[in-house]
Amino acid sequence: MREKYTGEEHAQAKEAVKGKSSAPDLLPVADAEQAVLESEVMRLLGCGGSFWPHPIGFSRIDLTQDLPVLHLDAFSEWRGRRTAMSNDAVHSLLPSQDSHSDVHGVSGLRVHAIHGEDLHLTMAGSSSRLVLRGTPGADWEAEIDELASQTRQEGCRLLWGLPTLAVSEQSLLRILLDYREMSWLGSGLLRRNALLWKVSSAFSAKSWIHGGEWIFELDALPTVEVYHNELLARLTDPVWGLPLRIVENRCRCTKSDSRPDYAGYECTYHLGSTQGKFGGLQIRFRVMSKNDLRYFRGERVLYENLEADRNWLKRAFPSPSKEASGCSAC
Ligand SMILES: [Zn+2]
Repeated sequence: MREKYTGEEHAQAKEAVKGKSSAPDLLPVADAEQAVLESEVMRLLGCGGSFWPHPIGFSRIDLTQDLPVLHLDAFSEWRGRRTAMSNDAVHSLLPSQDSHSDVHGVSGLRVHAIHGEDLHLTMAGSSSRLVLRGTPGADWEAEIDELASQTRQEGCRLLWGLPTLAVSEQSLLRILLDYREMSWLGSGLLRRNALLWKVSSAFSAKSWIHGGEWIFELDALPTVEVYHNELLARLTDPVWGLPLRIVENRCRCTKSDSRPDYAGYECTYHLGSTQGKFGGLQIRFRVMSKNDLRYFRGERVLYENLEADRNWLKRAFPSPSKEASGCSAC
């Protein structure tokens, strides 16, 4: 079961839970410092917007080693241009400061070490660690050197090697206090990232934070089975899920008869903490219009060319015969 959440190999996950019978032993919870690091990585890498072999650019988090290891996809693709995921990651995550003292990237994030295809990240003044594992051939040193050169050319200051927080980072952290308080959620989602490709039938996922909610927008074809019930059940599972409960929902699945083919629809679910913690999760399950199916068939080809996970594609893009006949649930 654990592999359905973390994406770990089955044998590895089975070994990790041997002799354990209850949460959180079965799927460990990060401590406060560690959760901040993991949550910030989830916030920036989970924002979507490109195409990857897995929904948001990584396939699993391995929690069986000394340090959590996040396995990145090899590359992303956007408008026909492929970029190494290691390049995407350093550009998104590593902090720099521009001439207006604005910080780009994760405030306080630091490069702790590079060992082969592993980039070890930490936060300034913290013992937290997260390993980003690139695919074979990933060259973190070259990616970081290139980013440093580009950052300097733009007149910006590199922050990712500083031993302590820069003043600009301290100011930003005060502003972004909400994000810190929501780190239990971000870390919990990172540790359950595989649900997006092992359970969800959405072909696209993106996320952002607004108004104390971590918002996920999942897009699915109108020909897939109604997919939100299982994902919500997994997320709120008392053993494997997060301490969340559904507090409000607007489901439109049952109103399909009156829905025209040219319009898609959305079921929105709001989930809140069962432990009184700050921050909620909002999931927008969007179903595309039937008239756009031809366009989305092109996306399937794109994902196939990226060698995306086959089981995920089978669910997200049903076979042509099923697509033609439609789905009773929709
Ligand atoms: Zn619904």
